[in-house]
Amino acid sequence: DMEVAIKVVVVGNGAVGKSSMIQRYCKGIFTKDYKKTIGVDFLERQLLVNDEDVRLMLWDTAGQEEFDAITKAYYRGGSFEAISSWWEKVEIEVGNIPTVLVQNKIDLLDDTVIKNEEAEVWAKKLKLRFYRTSVKEDLNVNEVFKYLADKYLQR
Ligand code: GDP
Ligand code: MG
Repeated sequence: DMEVAIKVVVVGNGAVGKSSMIQRYCKGIFTKDYKKTIGVDFLERQLLVNDEDVRLMLWDTAGQEEFDAITKAYYRGGSFEAISSWWEKVEIEVGNIPTVLVQNKIDLLDDTVIKNEEAEVWAKKLKLRFYRTSVKEDLNVNEVFKYLADKYLQR
């Protein structure tokens, strides 16, 4: 069988945990450093989906967030407008691809400004599968990428 290679792009505001999530999934580690340098453009991980060899290449948007108009506008705290802006951006750049909405850092749930129901309403509105994760505690991270790989192979 030929191996399938899938490019995965992780987008979102700065400091939400994008680099951490990629690092967790591909290297199995978590660190407290912000803006850690991964050192390469992407990390990869192999997985088996329905007996098919799949290679996920996870691309980080390291450091670019600060210069992005979307992030600039919503940098101060999470915002639901940011979700739809990021979604539009993805849609414009790459069209209709398997997509998920992730609420990370649920280990800090007590501090969250985002109510669970609100996030779910947004996911429904944008027709996105929704996951709550903690990269720190390794909750639901594998599920996110498994879902994306599955979804991609079903096309
Ligand atoms: P990025 O700008 O989106 O790439 O964010 P980073 O991956 O650099 O993470 C920003 C900060 O959030 C770092 O200090 C991480 O250690 C921390 N972080 C990432 N994921 C989690 C999580 O699930 N829980 C907690 N408590 N901290 C996290
Ligand atoms: Mg980063």
